[in-house]
Amino acid sequence: MARTALVTGGSRGIGAAISIALKDAGYNVAANYAGNDPVAQRFSEETGIRIYKWSVSDYEACAAGIKSVEADFGPVDILVNNAGITRDAMFHKMTPQHWREVIDTNLSGVFNMTHPLWGGMRERNFGRVITISSMNGQKGQFAQANYSAAKAGDLGFTKALAQEGARANITVNSVCPGFIATDMVMAVSEKIQQSIIAQIPVGRFGEAAEIARCVVFLASDDAGFITGATLSANGGHYFA
Ligand code: NAP
Repeated sequence: MARTALVTGGSRGIGAAISIALKDAGYNVAANYAGNDPVAQRFSEETGIRIYKWSVSDYEACAAGIKSVEADFGPVDILVNNAGITRDAMFHKMTPQHWREVIDTNLSGVFNMTHPLWGGMRERNFGRVITISSMNGQKGQFAQANYSAAKAGDLGFTKALAQEGARANITVNSVCPGFIATDMVMAVSEKIQQSIIAQIPVGRFGEAAEIARCVVFLASDDAGFITGATLSANGGHYFA
């Protein structure tokens, strides 16, 4: 029987590519999103992937959302914590709200989604938890104290939980993308885009599908001996 994968922020950008790649690899896929209904609906119509709306920043909403996914597909075997936001500002201009929103989504969201699923993965003696962190969590990034802190936190979460999951055949890994051509990155001006590309040894932004292939590998049985790992996919931009 096909395993079931749940991808947060799975309707757009990197998450959409992950949802599609997992579906193509034979998994049942549920894609969560936050609020952009037209984009999510179009994604679902085009791909046949079911969409589920809730905010990963709300623990109760996550628990309820997971229940509705499990009612449709059965137990979730693979969780991809992909949902993420930016609220960039230099630190002297960063507000407590900028800080809280990013921590609540990018770090607490990972707890809120993993915690309700963890007991079931332990009982069934199988699981995959794959979190999309960021190169900027590894190296820190100007005007992203909130984002870099959250994404670095995701790496610590991964390494700690990998130790707890190992005996139950649950692997817990992170992927750290560099700059990938999604809405998040293409929102900056052409001039800034060119200055970023100049710093990337391969001379281009990454594609969402390239991150999706990392996730498909980490989800597979072939990756059963890999846990607690940080997989960098950044075109040579940064060596952790
Ligand atoms: P994106 O294009 O902005 O898409 C973000 C997705 O996350 C959307 O589906 C969005 O849903 C969803 N989302 C946002 N907040 C949410 C919440 N509270 N609850 C549930 N879903 C939520 O982002 P992306 O560029 O694909 O980035 C995906 C992940 O990769 C993020 O974690 C990001 O930090 C990480 N990353 C991206 C890059 C890059 O270069 N793009 C580099 C490194 C790491 P709606 O459509 O409903 O808003």
